[in-house]
Amino acid sequence: MGSLVLPKKTKKIALLGATGSIGRSTLDLVARFPERYQVVAMGGGRKIEELLALARRFQPQLLSVQEESGAEELRRALRESGLRIPVMAGQAGAVAVATHTQAEIVVAAMVGAVGLEPTHAALQAGKDVALANKESMVMAGRLLNQLALSTGASILPLDSEHSAIWQALNGEAKKGVAKLILTASGGPFRDFSAERMQEVTPAQAMCHPRWQMGPKITIDSATMMNKALEIIEARWLFDIVPEKIEVLVHPQSIVHSLVEYVDGSVLAQLGLPDMRLPIGYALAYPERLALELPRLDLAVLGRLDFFPADPERFPALSLVRQALAAGDSGAIAFNAANEVAVELFRQGEIGFLEIAETVADVLQTVVREEFSSLTEILDFDAQIRQSLL
Ligand code: MG
Repeated sequence: MGSLVLPKKTKKIALLGATGSIGRSTLDLVARFPERYQVVAMGGGRKIEELLALARRFQPQLLSVQEESGAEELRRALRESGLRIPVMAGQAGAVAVATHTQAEIVVAAMVGAVGLEPTHAALQAGKDVALANKESMVMAGRLLNQLALSTGASILPLDSEHSAIWQALNGEAKKGVAKLILTASGGPFRDFSAERMQEVTPAQAMCHPRWQMGPKITIDSATMMNKALEIIEARWLFDIVPEKIEVLVHPQSIVHSLVEYVDGSVLAQLGLPDMRLPIGYALAYPERLALELPRLDLAVLGRLDFFPADPERFPALSLVRQALAAGDSGAIAFNAANEVAVELFRQGEIGFLEIAETVADVLQTVVREEFSSLTEILDFDAQIRQSLL
């Protein structure tokens, strides 16, 4: 007797950051596997026309945008297209998307600290979160882990390095782990001297050699602040002491990260740099999607290079150790100061090297404190930002 093949159940997704690079990659996967995935709620920022096109294509039941004026514009355009989809705005809108009753998994792909509240709300509502918004883990990793534990929700990494570690840890006992090794492309200024970096412009910092990403993360990659934030992210995602997390420069971005075990074995995950791989892994876990994308051919590639990270030229890598030693307040201040400094650099207000200097100055003022609520965390974050205005 043949076995009955049941149709696969469609997984319902709430997507925040729909018009960013992670959002677009997520929607590409949804479009490739319409029988497996459906977007039930979608949030974006200010790209109203793009959101309108996405709403037409994916027909979510709820939309949210950054500002009320944008929401008005989108409502009008939807009406003209004959679509009846409610549109919300601001943090309330993002939270409504993240907690949509039908959503089973939330793809949290907003940029910066604004991602924390909706991520928190999703976990509180017991929804699994596929997390690309590393800032929320940096600011509130302890709190989000506790929350996930209490509601039974899972936090699944989307960051390529953390996905690689997740894959390399699959099925292994934690006590066997000696260290986590995060790879870093080194960004566009990998070989620059400190003197050359002094003169770097925002346009130069925006040219990442391997990944096409938004402006904030691209500049974070140039300062290696991105890798520093990823150390804190890994610390909470994998509940491991920071001393066991290292950084290795690997310009080709093929080895996405590695786990070294106590016996000396090292497991790595390799692949072409394409965010659809880590996103697909999180969405389909524990299965794998049959993705028809270009394949890694090591014989064609021929070689992979690795270098030690240089905290002299990239002070973010030593500042993050200082931030971690200063507990929750250290990590929140580190992130807030960096966000403000990146914005000032983009506006031409400060030089490239002053991004790390701003973070260093702020860390000098921070007293170690632990926070047990979202309000305390958001208040302290606001206090740091205020001090930099
Ligand atoms: Mg990354």
